[in-house]
Amino acid sequence: MNKMAIDDWYEVIPISDDLSLIREKYIAHWLRCNIWHLSGKNFDLLIDSGMGLRPLKQEIATLSEKQITVISTHCHFDHIGGAHEFECRLGHRLEEALHREPNHENSGAAEFVRAETFLALPDNDFHYESYRVIPAPLTGYLDEGDVVDLGDRAFQVLHLPGHSPGSIALYELKSKTLFSGDAIYNGELFDTVYHSDKMIYRESLQRLRELDVETVHGGHYGSFGRRRMLEIIDDYLAGKAVMGDAKAWIDNQLGK
Ligand SMILES: [Zn+2]
Repeated sequence: MNKMAIDDWYEVIPISDDLSLIREKYIAHWLRCNIWHLSGKNFDLLIDSGMGLRPLKQEIATLSEKQITVISTHCHFDHIGGAHEFECRLGHRLEEALHREPNHENSGAAEFVRAETFLALPDNDFHYESYRVIPAPLTGYLDEGDVVDLGDRAFQVLHLPGHSPGSIALYELKSKTLFSGDAIYNGELFDTVYHSDKMIYRESLQRLRELDVETVHGGHYGSFGRRRMLEIIDDYLAGKAVMGDAKAWIDNQLGK
């Protein structure tokens, strides 16, 4: 199949008055990252930034003119690619070096970026083998117990290692809302990245089990509620709903 280069690379889906979901329409559904834009009283948050294949900042400009702080839930290529376009970039200190010098291996791209990843091309010259993450060193760190205060909404930072060492989530007690990155999403969880730690992942998920949550906005797939969160966690802890080998998992998604 000849793939065309596409202009409407991003789609913006309004979720509520202050929250939008931005998605890279032409990335395969099994990889596509959820990019969350949250409009605050004093500044806006961009939670993750996709693969960085097309300019993202101009898309955000249509949503709000406020200052934007990018929070990267973790350092994998599908979540940090657009961060370089923004001045303020926060993440966990344990992944500082990976944000500073991402490459095909340490960002996870080597396993997931292949021809079938792209339903269309971001530009005519694009070839998946030349995909690279543009480095975007963190300009500040977030860790367990920190609070991100937008003026009208405040989020606690939870450090939830396992998928990656510096995975973080944002939790708002008032609305019982969790932005979880890849610590949990509505799909098979991935604990075999080179720096994953299965034992620590179990602890992070057991911790999430106790959290008073009504809505989870994950790093991939659709949002879900507490009951589904408990199912995903319990399945994982029982050894089910795990991605396992990435290549075999992708082939399975593709029906190969
Ligand atoms: Zn990840």
